[in-house]
Amino acid sequence: MPKTHELTPGAPIKMADLISDGAHFCDDREQAEKEFLALRERLVALEPKLYADASRSLLVIFQAMDAGGKDSATRKVFTGVNPQGVRVVSFKQPTEEELAHDFLWRIHKQTPRRGKIVVFNRSQYEDVLVVRVEKLAPKSVWQARFEQINQFEEMLTAAGTRILKFYLHISKDEQKERFQSRLDEPSKNWKFSPDDLAKRAQWDDYQDAYEDVLKRCTTPWAPWHVIPADRKWYRNLAVCRTIVDALETMDLRYPEPTWKPGEYKID
Ligand code: AMP
Ligand code: MG
Repeated sequence: MPKTHELTPGAPIKMADLISDGAHFCDDREQAEKEFLALRERLVALEPKLYADASRSLLVIFQAMDAGGKDSATRKVFTGVNPQGVRVVSFKQPTEEELAHDFLWRIHKQTPRRGKIVVFNRSQYEDVLVVRVEKLAPKSVWQARFEQINQFEEMLTAAGTRILKFYLHISKDEQKERFQSRLDEPSKNWKFSPDDLAKRAQWDDYQDAYEDVLKRCTTPWAPWHVIPADRKWYRNLAVCRTIVDALETMDLRYPEPTWKPGEYKID
C-alpha cells in the first residue's frame, strides 16, 4: 500500500484515471482494520500534545460527491479523540448574511485557533464546485476563486495551521449502491434527498469541476489527497494515516514549565 495519496503540485491529473477501489492498494482488509485502530490510538494521543504545544492548529477538509463518506470518515477517524480538542463544521447553502459577504468570510470564522483541530465537512471548495455546476455565479467570479483560495490557505499555513485536504473518491456505481440503501433502509431514509439525484445526473460536470480543483489548488503548502473511498476500511486507514503522519512531523512539544520542578511540595 502506498504511504500517501498526496498529489504533486503541477503534475497532470485526469479524473478518469483516479482509482476509487481501495482493494487496488491493499488486499488484506483484516490487517488494514487493525492498522487503522492502532493509528487512531496514536491520533488520540497526539491531540493533547497539539493542545499543550499551543502554537499550531490542524484543519482537515473533506470534499466528496454525495454519499462519498464525509460524515462517516469524520465519525470513524475521530472516535475517541477528546471532544474538547476537535470541532466539526458542516457548510450548507450559504445564508442570506453569508451571501452578503465575500465567500471566505464564513470559512475564515471557523478555522481552528492554535492548539485545536477543526474538521470541515464541505468547505470553500463548494464555491468552485456546486456554484460552478449550478451556475450560481458567473464564470469570471468562480474562476478567480482558485487563486483566492490558494492565497487564503497560504496565509493560514503561514499563521501555523496545517491544512489537510481529502477528496474522498467514489465511483458512480458505488454512489448508486449507497443511494439505494438510503432508499431501502428506513433508518437511512433521512439521508436521501431528491436533490441528490439531480446532482448525480450532473456527475460528469462535477467530475470536471473536481479535476480543476485538484489541479489548480494542489499547492506546496496544501496539496490535495485523493483517497480511494469505495471501501470504507481502506478510506479510514488512508485518512487516519495521513493525519497522524502530519501531526507527527509537526514536531509538537510540551511547553517548559514556568516553575522549577522540586520547588513545590504537596502535603
Ligand atoms: P449536505 O452536506 O448533504 O447537508 O448538503 C449541504 C448542501 O449545501 C449541499 O447540496 C451543498 O452543495 C450545499 N452547499 C454548501 N456550500 C455551498 C455554497 N457555498 N453554495 C451553494 N451551495 C452550497
Ligand atoms: Mg446530502
